[in-house]
Amino acid sequence: MFKRILIANRGEIAMRILRCCHEMGIETVLACSKEDLDSLPAQFCTKCICIGPAPAAQSYLNENAILSAAKACRCDAIHPGYGFLSENAHFARMCEENNIVFIGPDSQTIRRMGDKQSARALMQKSGVPVVPGSGGILADWHEAARIARKVGYPVLLKATAGGGGRGLRAAHNPSELRRAYEDAQAEAQSAFGSGALYLEKLIEHPRHIEVQILGDTRGNIIQLGERDCSMQRRNQKLMEEAPASLLSNFQRTAIRRAALKAARAAHYISAGTVEFVLDQKGKFYFIEMNTRIQVEHPVTEMVTGVDLVREQIRIAAGLPLSLKQSEVRICGHAIECRINAEDPARNFMPAPGEISFVHFPGGNGVRVESAIYPGAQISPYYDSMIAKIIVHAPGRLEAVRKMRAALGELTIEGVKTNISFLYLLMHNGDYLSGRFDTGFLGRQAKAIVRWGEESLKHRQKS
Ligand code: ADP
Ligand code: ADP
Ligand code: MG
Repeated sequence: MFKRILIANRGEIAMRILRCCHEMGIETVLACSKEDLDSLPAQFCTKCICIGPAPAAQSYLNENAILSAAKACRCDAIHPGYGFLSENAHFARMCEENNIVFIGPDSQTIRRMGDKQSARALMQKSGVPVVPGSGGILADWHEAARIARKVGYPVLLKATAGGGGRGLRAAHNPSELRRAYEDAQAEAQSAFGSGALYLEKLIEHPRHIEVQILGDTRGNIIQLGERDCSMQRRNQKLMEEAPASLLSNFQRTAIRRAALKAARAAHYISAGTVEFVLDQKGKFYFIEMNTRIQVEHPVTEMVTGVDLVREQIRIAAGLPLSLKQSEVRICGHAIECRINAEDPARNFMPAPGEISFVHFPGGNGVRVESAIYPGAQISPYYDSMIAKIIVHAPGRLEAVRKMRAALGELTIEGVKTNISFLYLLMHNGDYLSGRFDTGFLGRQAKAIVRWGEESLKHRQKS
């Protein structure tokens, strides 16, 4: 087993990894930016090393600085968390060349699956259903128009290097196509350094269903059930649950099998997620594979009892999976809410600042993942997610009630947050009855915000 792991990340996921390492008797070196020297993970790590100034490009994305820190501190391995370098094949390759274990799949797998078009091609070859669309990278918008005519509008233009909901543009008719093509290309070029696009039919009103995978170096691959992540704003997830309660048993078995097939085709090692969209007729299609730990991994941990970060570390150290497929049991229902420092009244604009007071909920089946404390600075340089509240209960309705109570108790002062928005969402009739798709928040978010403002006014009057 590793003696010392370098954590190349920040915030709640750095705390999550750090706690797991310490539990396993592994020392931690936190590589953090100057901005984060007072952060919670910087206080609790075995050793903290500054890798550069606040902008991520000069710190958390600075491959040389991170690798040098790992070497200088004699770390055996690097855990990249999510975001930043977690799906960067070049960095994984640098680690391999320097004999430091990158906790994740090998650089070749990251490259193959990280390029979304080549992953799509591999899935197609392996018999995993993919969304109808282009056979490869599009040469220009004329080719896009030709394929769109064949598969039928609406269509979605997607960056092959894309991630985090960026580099995606829909076109509902031929007149929108050229603009969508150019916008997607420009966004992808500036965000990922590659403007290469492919095309998929836009599945209307889909659900986002994804399956958690674990694979070890001995060729064992298992799935740990699915999550429903359809509650999204601008293609970014806000709330996730496990299992996906609307699936029939037949669909559930089929989608889990398809995910296993996808992971086997990729000879997948480490923790990974196979993402699908489910159309209104109940057919599902592969959209991409994420070759890292995901933000929403705790909901799977709650219903399976498996520590996914621990499994990642064990796998990277060459140990076998700690359970077989036949030992995976899905028990009860889990929900996660992402708490963001943002202002719902101002179109969810990020709201950085200093935390003046925090009270976290607790009790049976309530879990908090966060790195905030009174006095902590929420930096404008990084993602606005400041906490995750996860609940686990025997059934979905009980989990919803638990989440309402937890959100009602959660108190964060000093910065604006989406806590009351999430609380209201937990009372929305369509959410409760499971009638929501990935476009739900796009249509309903404003009404939910207004509902909250009105009930507040009402309360102040009475
Ligand atoms: P996941 O795929 O784990 O559910 P998301 O879909 O929310 O996570 O985001 C995809 C990735 O992009 C994650 O690794 C997340 O950390 C990262 N990400 C999302 N939004 C931002 C942002 N504003 N800045 C930096 N990274 C981001
Ligand atoms: P990213 O790498 O940015 O996460 P994805 O390919 O996973 O990109 O797509 C992000 C989101 O966009 C998905 O969660 C889903 O809601 C939506 N999406 C992706 N492909 C399609 C499609 N073909 N039809 C409808 N929605 C889609
Ligand atoms: Mg995705």
